Amino acid sequence: MTQKIFVLYTGGTIGMRSSSDGLRPDTDLVGKALQPFSDGLQFDWHVCDPLIDSSAVNLSHWRDWLALLAEKIPQYDGILILHGTDTMAYTANLLALALQGLDKPVILTGSQWPYDAPESDAPLNLATAVAAFELSLPQVLIAFNGKVFPAVGSSKVSTETAAGFDNPHFGALAQWQQSDWQWLARPSERTQSVSDGLNILSLDTQAKVVCQTLIPGFSAQYCSDGLLHTDAQAVVLQSFGHGNAPSDATFIQAVQSFTERGGLLLNISQVKQGCAAAVYAQGSALRQAGVVNGGKCNLETATALLTLAVSNQWNAATLQKTLRTLGLLEAV
Ligand code: ASP
Repeated sequence: MTQKIFVLYTGGTIGMRSSSDGLRPDTDLVGKALQPFSDGLQFDWHVCDPLIDSSAVNLSHWRDWLALLAEKIPQYDGILILHGTDTMAYTANLLALALQGLDKPVILTGSQWPYDAPESDAPLNLATAVAAFELSLPQVLIAFNGKVFPAVGSSKVSTETAAGFDNPHFGALAQWQQSDWQWLARPSERTQSVSDGLNILSLDTQAKVVCQTLIPGFSAQYCSDGLLHTDAQAVVLQSFGHGNAPSDATFIQAVQSFTERGGLLLNISQVKQGCAAAVYAQGSALRQAGVVNGGKCNLETATALLTLAVSNQWNAATLQKTLRTLGLLEAV
């Protein structure tokens, strides 16, 4: 039986062409890119207007894509999203958290080099994504360079090689070998989809979420000033190691005043495979000041969580509960 796949083409290098200013998104990809895979699969394209370089993505794009997916997911066997690599992991995380009760795969891919470029990685990435539909995993996935990653925890890790993505905490779910057209590794059993139906969380395009990264020196003071005056509703704090930060009074008081005003402050590690947890005394003052420790949350997951937290008026306890449900606090 023919499987119906809805293709959401948002832009990205995969379909770009050269212009006098550099690479730009283009519609030329549409007819040809999925043609080699049309045996047993019907691809229905939705081409965004305008197509974007994914570094221009904003909350309105996410809101519009969620609305479109709400309509299309029930009508199709799977969703393929062609997306620029720069923010693919952010979008993948947002979709993974917002599309609750998903009972079919939503797979994102793109490429480091345009489809028409010599030695482009686009054909392998498209083949990986198309093959990943076979796995029938009812979740949001990134398919790239022969690997299939769960959205939560994934990051872009290279602008230079075809291995553009990784998931330092959770790894790849499956690995595809194009030369043999087979899976080298795949989940042993098909995940049974147990769903009470699709429920899509709201996304408020006015949600104000920012990120502060600590570095040695002036940054704690800069961050304190920001926390005292910001109208952001939620802040991702990228701290050191296991979620440690300076404990000087000015910084801690600024954090406390922000959380007491109802602001959500999610403390994550700036280490690639880091875990923000109560390990060191040095992080204790920060914990006492009302931050939520993000465990294994990376920046992309933290951004998605806080955007949805603000949009849906979660408090710190709901945020913490969601982190636990996602398995981000396990083994901490
Ligand atoms: N700047 C491009 C984008 O994210 C990069 C890519 O797709 O590889 O749209």
